[in-house]
Amino acid sequence: MNGLEKAIKQSGFRNELMESEFGLFCDKCNNKYDYYKFDNGQVVKDGCDCELIEHHKQQKEAFFKRIERNKIEKIYRYSIIPYDLQGATFENYEPQNESQKKLFNICKRYADNFELNNKQSLLLQGDFGLGKSHLAMAALHEIKSKGYSVLFIDIPQLLTAYKDTYNKNSEMNETDLDEIIEKVDLMVLDDYGTSVNTFGNQKLFSVMNMRKGKHNIITTNNTAKELTKNKDLAKQFSRMMMNATPIKVDGDDYRLKGLV
Ligand SMILES: [Zn+2]
Repeated sequence: MNGLEKAIKQSGFRNELMESEFGLFCDKCNNKYDYYKFDNGQVVKDGCDCELIEHHKQQKEAFFKRIERNKIEKIYRYSIIPYDLQGATFENYEPQNESQKKLFNICKRYADNFELNNKQSLLLQGDFGLGKSHLAMAALHEIKSKGYSVLFIDIPQLLTAYKDTYNKNSEMNETDLDEIIEKVDLMVLDDYGTSVNTFGNQKLFSVMNMRKGKHNIITTNNTAKELTKNKDLAKQFSRMMMNATPIKVDGDDYRLKGLV
């Protein structure tokens, strides 16, 4: 089949050839090509590989996007999300007072402006039941939907996950878990507290070191004074507070609303 026959076949047999030029040079793919234009407006460049190259490029991009997506889902699966937080969004958060409204606005802005180059952390501080975890979860959902990798975990579960890696039947070793924690775009550490043992302290210090200066949302019922009451805690706290904005929330118990 010669160039013209090929071009006719590509354009459809019923179309008439209107223009043709031969021996042209494409400076994009550096190929010689013949140019045909048909009466339906279709153009065939026989010999030019640009379309093919573009097609491969798109396929490759789609492939890597898929891999990236799978990676994000895989990391997310390590999250341990309490039942009552699974459906937490900004839409279903109901602030009861100004302090909770402020918390809502800050978390929403954090999610809206999330960008890898602008690393920011939030420390959400306040009594149990004010919706800190709800808003941390809502931010996490929104940031994940933008295509970032996210992880939600509380301290006891994080420590258990590390202990589990020492089990010889574990599918993951300590280095794998470190890598997830080090690389995840956003980490939510829920219910950060002061009551951990020596192992916990060492592990948390190492986790805070891996996460320092990255994107973290940490919720805690403790005050800054409590979180720095000894040397170990103070060391963790200083790592945790790099790039972090502390936000204190007051108010009635968020979760009791509707039940009383
Ligand atoms: Zn070309």
